[in-house]
Amino acid sequence: MGTDRELEYEGPCECGEGKYIIKFCEPDHGWSNNFWYEYTIQCKRCAEKYELDQRGNKFYLVEKKELERKQKQLEKCQKKSHELMTTEKVKKILEKFITHLDALPSMAAIHRLLSYEKLECCSVATFRKRWNGGTTWVERNVNYFHLVAIMKILGITHNDIIEDINEIEELSKVAALPPKTIGKPVYETRL
Ligand SMILES: [Zn+2]
Repeated sequence: MGTDRELEYEGPCECGEGKYIIKFCEPDHGWSNNFWYEYTIQCKRCAEKYELDQRGNKFYLVEKKELERKQKQLEKCQKKSHELMTTEKVKKILEKFITHLDALPSMAAIHRLLSYEKLECCSVATFRKRWNGGTTWVERNVNYFHLVAIMKILGITHNDIIEDINEIEELSKVAALPPKTIGKPVYETRL
């Protein structure tokens, strides 16, 4: 099975020497409603500076510098989060939490606690199948934003950890904003 591609839009680029190409794509078998767009800037000068970015049914021009800025924001957030999760203080908290989980009387009790604190969202049946001890669960599931609930369960508070979490959350909000687009859409598909 392959892909059918149809030219959807072709228009001049910013500098006027090349063009933007947008193709409508769908699987070449008839029974799928799936479709997507492939888009490119066929101009050496413009492709060095810009990229096309699809937002719903609109295609915008975005500066590559802006995309690099977004990437850096994301990396900064991931680095901060990794730094926090590997501090001795957090490692000790997670060790305590593993001991706490493994000491609970049943898988149902563990599932109840984790669900109540919104650390787990699967059904008890799925949870039973997946459960392989506290260590594995923590390794697979725990991220910086779970630390508040974990500290609450253990009855401990570390304000400096909470400050770090807030800082990472702020960074993550900024990183999650879509890159700034330039001007009006280059092209808008029919709905
Ligand atoms: Zn150009």
